[in-house]
Amino acid sequence: MGLVETEAIVLHTFKLAEADKIAVCMTEKAGLVRGVARGARRLKSKFGASLEPFTLINLTYFEKEARELVTIKNTEILRSYFGAAESSEVVASMGYLVELVKEFATPHLADERLFRMLRACVESLASTPHNAQAIFAYCELWILRLTGFLPDSKVCGGCRGHLKDRISSGAYITPEGIVWCAECYRGGGRFLSEEVYELLSSIRVLRPASWSEAYSETPAPGQQIASSISRGLIKRVLEKDIRGNHQSFQAIQPQRSADKQPVGE
Ligand SMILES: [Zn+2]
Repeated sequence: MGLVETEAIVLHTFKLAEADKIAVCMTEKAGLVRGVARGARRLKSKFGASLEPFTLINLTYFEKEARELVTIKNTEILRSYFGAAESSEVVASMGYLVELVKEFATPHLADERLFRMLRACVESLASTPHNAQAIFAYCELWILRLTGFLPDSKVCGGCRGHLKDRISSGAYITPEGIVWCAECYRGGGRFLSEEVYELLSSIRVLRPASWSEAYSETPAPGQQIASSISRGLIKRVLEKDIRGNHQSFQAIQPQRSADKQPVGE
């Protein structure tokens, strides 16, 4: 309670009354926080452009006991993605990451790893927007992992043997994300080649930029399997497919840029 200072990423803002804004932020020290910024919509507001979505800021806010909405006292821009945000495709892609985090983060519960993962993904997306598909899969798998929805893929769900010793003949993954070695597998899942298994497992040790490289070096069918697994696991947990709300990010895949059409026209 009281005054809190933390690094934060602005996820979303909306208008409040005549001159104020409510900002939803993912913070390093306090998880998801909703705060009101008095006067933020005035031309000469002290908040300036700091409360634009996806901006990385130093946030100071005042928290009162038993009140969900905090009062934003001060903000300082650490990193602005204003340039990237001029592209509607990048905005749509970042919008998807933001929605994912909003679905999974617990309000006022600090989750530094989730914060750092989001910060790295936003940065990666801003600098290499054509890697959106890889960054989505990375963010999806990490969120599942950090929130306890991704089973350990190091050992077989049947014999508990180390999969790295058995992966040469491939493995299988169930809709719940449990990986089985070829010997134990009894159906109901999909095949994972050694290559895709290694790719999925490497999120544990790679940052999004490096993982995007590994993803792009994987042949297209393997990329599609990795992406559909991560998307399917998210869909299963949320019982809805929120990627569908951010369709315009499809347009930034390089191979499709030639036939890109403005959305809704
Ligand atoms: Zn097994």
